[in-house]
Amino acid sequence: MNIQDPHPIKWQFSERAQGLQSSFIREILKITQRPEIISFAGGLPSPATFPVERMRAAYDKVLLDAGKVALQYGPTDGFAPLRAWIADSLSTEGTKILPEQILMVSGSQQALDLIGKVLIDEGSRVLVETPSYLGALQAFSVYRPEFASVDTDDDGLVPSSIDAVAKGARLLYALPNFQNPTGRSLSLARRRELVETCARLRLPLIEDDPYGALSYTGAPMPKMVAMHPDGVIYMGSFSKVLTPGIRLGYVCAPLPLVRRLELAKQAADLHTAQLTQMVVYEVVKDGFLDEHIPTIRALYGRQCRAMLDAMAEHFPAAVSWTKPEGGMFIWVTLPKSIDAMQLLDTAIASRVAFVPGAPFYANAGETNTLRLSFVTVPPERIREGIAILGKLIAALL
Ligand code: PMP
Repeated sequence: MNIQDPHPIKWQFSERAQGLQSSFIREILKITQRPEIISFAGGLPSPATFPVERMRAAYDKVLLDAGKVALQYGPTDGFAPLRAWIADSLSTEGTKILPEQILMVSGSQQALDLIGKVLIDEGSRVLVETPSYLGALQAFSVYRPEFASVDTDDDGLVPSSIDAVAKGARLLYALPNFQNPTGRSLSLARRRELVETCARLRLPLIEDDPYGALSYTGAPMPKMVAMHPDGVIYMGSFSKVLTPGIRLGYVCAPLPLVRRLELAKQAADLHTAQLTQMVVYEVVKDGFLDEHIPTIRALYGRQCRAMLDAMAEHFPAAVSWTKPEGGMFIWVTLPKSIDAMQLLDTAIASRVAFVPGAPFYANAGETNTLRLSFVTVPPERIREGIAILGKLIAALL
C-alpha cells in the first residue's frame, strides 16, 4: 500500500535538534576522498596499521569458543574481563583503579555524549582548551552549555588561567597528550598544576587520551587520573591503537559518576556489542599491543618527520607550526592577513586539502590557523603536498 498523503507531516524538530550542525571536517572529507587530492585533512588512522589477520583470527576463536555468549545481549557496564584488563593497565604503583570504575562505550565519542548528558544543563559553564577537539564541542553542544575558553600557549593548556573562568563551571575538558588539533602535550609540571587547580576548585577534570600511547620518543607521560582518581574522568579508546571501525572505547570515573554514566548508556543503547569486546579482549590479553603499538609509532613518526622537514624547506618564514612528538596532527599558524578558509579554496583547486582551524574554537577563534594530518599520506606525497601549500601561502603574502 502506498498512501498518497494530502497533508504531509510538517516536521517540528526539537530546539535541540534545530541546533545540530554537521561537522565541518566531515563535509571537507567528502571532497578530499577523491584520489587525486593529497589530503592532510582527515583524522583517520592509517589502515596500513590495522591488524586485520589478528582480528579475523580472534573473531573466529570467540565465535567458536563462546559464540552463544558473544551473540547475546550483555551487561551495560561491559565485558568483565576486558574491564579488569583496562583497570589493571590504568593502575600505577600508587593508584589502584577498580574494574567497577570502568564503563565500556561505543567509541570514546559516546563517552563525550554521556558526560554531556549527566553533567551539563542548558547554560552550564563548560571549560575547554583554545582550540579543542571539534567532536567534543559538537557532543557537548547538544546539551547547550556556555563554553568558556581556557588559555593555551606553546606548551598547551595554561592552568593558571582556569581560576578566572571557573566560577560555576561543571567540568574542564582537557587533552593532555598530542592534542587534537594542535599535537601539543602537557609537561609533567603542568599536569600536576592542572590536577591541583581542579582539585582545589572541586572541578571535574576530563582527561581525553586517545593518542597517549602514540609517543614517537617512547615513554608515555603519567596520566592525570593516576594523580587524582577521585576528581579525574579518564577517556580511552581502541581506535588509534587497534582500529576505529570496531567503535570501542572506555571511561574510567569515580564510582558515583560512573554509575550515572552507566544509566545514561543503558537508556542510549543498552550496551556496547559483546562480540566486539570479547574479540578485543582476545586480541589484547596476552600483550599484543606491546608489539603492535611500536609499529604504529614508527610509521607515524617517519611521516611526521617528513612533514616537518618539508615544512622547514617550503613554508615562508612568517609561518609557524607545532613540532609534535606523537599523535597524528601538526597545527599551523599563518600570518594574520591570511584566512585559512580562503587558502583551502585555492589548495583544493591545486589538489591539496587540510582543515582550517576556526571550527576548533568554542568561541571566536583565529582564522589564520589550520590542522595538518600526516598519518595516511606516504612521505613522497607529503613532500609534494607541502611544497604546493608553501607556494600557495607565499602567493598570498
Ligand atoms: N577524542 C579525541 C581527541 C579524538 O580525536 C577522537 C577521534 N578522532 C575521539 C575522542 C573519538 O574517538 P573514538 O570514538 O573513535 O574512540
